[in-house]
Amino acid sequence: MPKVRIAIVGAGMGGLAAAVALTRAGHEVRIHEQAPALGEVGVGMHLTPNGTRILERWGLGEALRARGVEPAAMEVREWAGGTTLVRRPMGEAWRAEFGAPYYTIHRADLHALLAGLLPPGTVRLGRRLARFTDDGDAVRLEFADGAVEEADVLIGADGVHSVVRRGLHGPDLPVFAGQSALRGLVDRRDVPGLPDDTVLVWAGPDARMLAYPVRGGEQLTFVAVVPGGEEHLESWSAPGDPVALAAAFSGWNPDVTALVAAVRETRRWELYDREPLPFWGRGAVTLLGDAAHPMLPHHGQGVGQAVEDAAVLAHFLDAPHTSPAAGSRERIADALRGYEDVRRPHTARVQLGSRDSGSQRLRPAADGTAPKDSMASLVQDVSWIQRHDAEADLPAAISPAGLPV
Ligand SMILES: Cc1cc2nc3c(=O)[nH]c(=O)nc-3n(C[C@H](O)[C@H](O)[C@H](O)COP(=O)(O)OP(=O)(O)OC[C@H]3O[C@@H](n4cnc5c(N)ncnc54)[C@H](O)[C@@H]3O)c2cc1C
Repeated sequence: MPKVRIAIVGAGMGGLAAAVALTRAGHEVRIHEQAPALGEVGVGMHLTPNGTRILERWGLGEALRARGVEPAAMEVREWAGGTTLVRRPMGEAWRAEFGAPYYTIHRADLHALLAGLLPPGTVRLGRRLARFTDDGDAVRLEFADGAVEEADVLIGADGVHSVVRRGLHGPDLPVFAGQSALRGLVDRRDVPGLPDDTVLVWAGPDARMLAYPVRGGEQLTFVAVVPGGEEHLESWSAPGDPVALAAAFSGWNPDVTALVAAVRETRRWELYDREPLPFWGRGAVTLLGDAAHPMLPHHGQGVGQAVEDAAVLAHFLDAPHTSPAAGSRERIADALRGYEDVRRPHTARVQLGSRDSGSQRLRPAADGTAPKDSMASLVQDVSWIQRHDAEADLPAAISPAGLPV
């Protein structure tokens, strides 16, 4: 297919991943980002095998090994006494089971790795999309500063409050999960009792604490999931209160109380998602990442699904077709609808599965004990996601021959 001019709105992980995949396919790509500087929230994230296998194909294997931590194990511990209830080996065992590594990594590190794959000048900063129109010949983007641009394709990768999604679907209805997440980093020297190679989960009656290593184990990311109040804004950067955090975990085991005592700064994030959309795009406009499928974090899949979206979209825009005419507007619209038809059911299943996982499943029984099979059932819940190869599993007509593995 002749190369097309692609405008991506949003330089989060999803927008960058889309730009990498589409640039690799030779398209002319420009990202418009509202922030004045490129960056990411200063916390860690899980990068699961379904995402790493694609990132490795993009040449990031060695850099991920260097910047990420490949945890040796995942443990569920008892919230009051702190004893280990379940330990599941990861590392080699995970690679063998899912065909690619599982990393924990600082978000800013992954963001920088993706940005480093783009040609200079791909990202335009300080550009907030205000509205767009698609007149059938081109998509016209209008920015808050009055600038106007045209493109053959518009990809809304502009996150949970997506302007592009609103333009296509109207105002949406956030669904509140009744919980908040408090996230941040602690220096591991401040919590010497905690391992630097393990994903830890302590599950209590009303709250849950996760801790995992980033940056070679020098820092631990914590994610505390606590009962939340809907009055808070749906924001990724609202300040949290370390004192309130410590109070929420008072009476827990000494490892958790030491962890919360080491917290100097935390961000609070109310847990909202959306119902899966009945369709994503129209004409030469589509959605990707959180703009398309905002999900709760319990499956650790927001970035992984955005990376999968990006890879699949690039294949559809590149797939050889004879009719309609290659490069025509009709052909572009067909390619976008093909991408959406593949990605929509998969991501909807992940979105809905994330709602029904984690906190509920790990909740201790009425007698205070955690269910022993909780970890096994949680891993089982996500194994279909982690095993998925979004490129190799494409229909033969779309998937390019000789996919590198
Ligand atoms: C507590 C928490 C834990 C998580 N843990 C994980 C995890 O472990 N693993 C994982 O895979 N995922 C995780 N996620 C989810 C994941 O972080 C998100 O799904 C992912 O960041 C979404 O990327 P995105 O690029 O689609 O959206 P965003 O990261 O929201 O990026 C959107 C970008 O668009 C820009 N933008 C917005 N509007 C406009 C506009 N009008 N004009 C121009 N630019 C605009 C924004 O400034 C931003 O840069 C977690 C999320 C949270 C909050």
